[in-house]
Amino acid sequence: MEIASEKCKFRAGEYIFREGDRGDVAYILEEGVVEIIANIDNSPTVLNTLTPGDIFGELALIDDSPRSASALAKTDVLLTVISKAQVKARIEQAHPILQLLLTVIMKHFRSETARIRGNKSSDFPSKLYQEKLHNSIELIRLESELYQGFKNNELLLFYQPIIEIKTQLIAGFEVLLRWFSPKRGYVSPEIFAPLAEASPLIISIGEWVLEESIKALHLLKNYSRRDLFFSINVAEKQIKCKNFSGIIKEKIVGKFKKKIPIKLEILERSLFEGSEAISFIEFCREYGIPLVLDDFGTGYANLSYLKKFQFDTVKIDKCFIENLETNHKDQIICKSLIELSHGLGMTTVAEGIENQKQLEILKRLGCDYGQGYFFSPPLPREQVIKLLQQ
Ligand code: C2E
Ligand code: CA
Ligand code: CA
Repeated sequence: MEIASEKCKFRAGEYIFREGDRGDVAYILEEGVVEIIANIDNSPTVLNTLTPGDIFGELALIDDSPRSASALAKTDVLLTVISKAQVKARIEQAHPILQLLLTVIMKHFRSETARIRGNKSSDFPSKLYQEKLHNSIELIRLESELYQGFKNNELLLFYQPIIEIKTQLIAGFEVLLRWFSPKRGYVSPEIFAPLAEASPLIISIGEWVLEESIKALHLLKNYSRRDLFFSINVAEKQIKCKNFSGIIKEKIVGKFKKKIPIKLEILERSLFEGSEAISFIEFCREYGIPLVLDDFGTGYANLSYLKKFQFDTVKIDKCFIENLETNHKDQIICKSLIELSHGLGMTTVAEGIENQKQLEILKRLGCDYGQGYFFSPPLPREQVIKLLQQ
């Protein structure tokens, strides 16, 4: 989120803010001189004299505590305002460990300042602070348990059938991670996948997913009369990892002589103008690895991506399918997505099909493949074998 920074002026002798005020902006001093003054042992003391280029009031951007000092314009001053909103959005995007560190440092800084000034510690730590701290610690704990869990073989792969809509036959499977933690029980991938994806752990997990998938695919081939494909989720960090192409070459390309039956699913939001995504996609083209654009339409639905990056398949997100039978707008969106994909030489998969009605509509719209609880939930390998044997 980019919010244009405002400029503001104060006359000599005016207070820009006072100790104890609620603060939600910081300032860059552009012209003039500002004094930072705090009440120490009940007497106003100049802590610092600022000149152009200095920044002040920045603590208020990070926590919700009141101003710990006053800022007085010694001369006429010109300031650039930095709003809390500008910083907040970025802090929220930061990794939980960084958020935690920032919060802990702030807490120490605030209580140390209060101690030096002989104040009783203010209302710090606030409820909000404690809540944030608790959430960050919980995430870090979960991440370290996931790391241990991965090493202890607690991760499993499940496979969800992808059906060819025209024939209603199983064409392939999406490979989905599952974590059964002895301590927590089943942990949803909605919780642990983003955590893994934000840490370097996803590189090792991703490599393991590839290896396991290849083994499973070779096994399942024995139970199917048709050729099957696997569709594997790939995280942004993996694409950005320098030797990911090398890993794919070793684990996938080297394992198949003819057509490669492994598709890689890339989220729309993992595409970025950076050279890593472009060169990775070019690499996949060169080696004949099919690519699926996952969750298209839920991010920026940036059509220029479809022009720039060549995909084999577009996956229509379940949010467009869940009300398909009642929502006319969803029908229009699906129809357009299918036409657009076909026009650009790509096939379509609809995910999250839960009833016959949705399937019928998708069939009428010419959607190529479908997956969802209507056909089957994601299944462990043994149950997939049973399904193929039926
Ligand atoms: P996704 O790639 O969008 O996966 C589809 C999700 O939809 C899966 O959730 C699947 O179980 C669920 N689903 C399937 N059919 C239906 C249906 O009919 N209705 C509804 N409501 N949901 C359905 P799951 O398994 O919980 O995975 C969540 C996310 O975790 C995945 O979303 C994917 O982003 C991530 N993930 C899972 N496995 C991996 C992996 O191996 N690598 C990476 N990087 N991410 C993974
Ligand atoms: Ca997917
Ligand atoms: Ca999806």
